[in-house]
Amino acid sequence: MLDKSRLQQIFEDLVHIDAVSTNEQPMVDFVVDFFAKYDIAGEVDDHKNILFKISGTGDPLFLNAHIDTVEPTAGIVLKEHDGVITTDETTILGGDDRAGVAAILECVTHLIEVAVEHRPLEILFTAQEEIGLIGARHFDYSKLTATEGITLDSDGPASNIITASVGYVSIVGEIIGKAAHAAKPEEGVHAIYAASEFIQSIPCGKCTEETLVNVGVLNGGVASNAVPESVHLTCEVRSRNQQELDEHTTNIKEQLALVHKKHGTTDTIAFTQQFAPFAMDESHPWLQHVIAGVRSIGLIPEPQKSLGGMDANIFNENGIAVVTVGCGYRNMHSKQESVNLAELFDATRLLEQLVVREAVS
Ligand SMILES: [Zn+2]
Repeated sequence: MLDKSRLQQIFEDLVHIDAVSTNEQPMVDFVVDFFAKYDIAGEVDDHKNILFKISGTGDPLFLNAHIDTVEPTAGIVLKEHDGVITTDETTILGGDDRAGVAAILECVTHLIEVAVEHRPLEILFTAQEEIGLIGARHFDYSKLTATEGITLDSDGPASNIITASVGYVSIVGEIIGKAAHAAKPEEGVHAIYAASEFIQSIPCGKCTEETLVNVGVLNGGVASNAVPESVHLTCEVRSRNQQELDEHTTNIKEQLALVHKKHGTTDTIAFTQQFAPFAMDESHPWLQHVIAGVRSIGLIPEPQKSLGGMDANIFNENGIAVVTVGCGYRNMHSKQESVNLAELFDATRLLEQLVVREAVS
């Protein structure tokens, strides 16, 4: 039996582990020890991704949650009220994504204890998700054979099924002018002035239903009496539509070139597509299967499209059809973060359905 109180204990143990992005080792140790109880060895790669394989019947199924969190989590104090866990609001909770990890660990515990027939499992716990899907991007996918799977890493209930997400282009570097004394502006090239014109020339915010542009960082200059030599810029374009992603990126490049032409500036700005968008068709058999699984645990499926990048982007890019589902957390990345234990249990029940059903059908 899936055990709700055991799930809660696993979750609480996990959120007490201070293992923010790039410092995942304490989580690696915990998860490896957890599986070692059942004589299942994990394979940890250089990026602290951990892969476990559990044999079974039928087609292999890929399961994922990420083991890092944002900060801060040190010294966490938990509170529980009406089945909802929060902190004392001096730290985040880390339900994103310890809830997903807990659901997988409880499901595995159940499968092993009752020796139920289930699909072969390829369980990947990823590192550094929160700082740009770094673990997922560096994982060696030749180690996997599964062609479909599920990531437990969305807010809200398990009925939240993320079927599409954005691709992402980072735009990072400097606009470079020429320094001069403010009294001799004709000898300088004003980087801040050029940068401000560049920013005004590009869209910022929601461009279409599927595309966003954001200017996130802008800093430069050294003194009020100096023509600034350079300005550092960090921008991004994200879109669920690769064509729109390309068009907006090209437009930004063109606007930058126009500004250089007008002001005599140059730049060191790098445009890098970090990952591609993905979209799973509603008729995809795996999506239909997940939807049926959600119904089978008594919830109404709510397929939705996301504007945030996620590990599932990388998995889909690598040929594994992966949807992301909710695992009960809310207000992630904030000190008001919470986890609804009933929803976390539902996510675990959904996982059990998906792991077991195909093996016996
Ligand atoms: Zn997450």
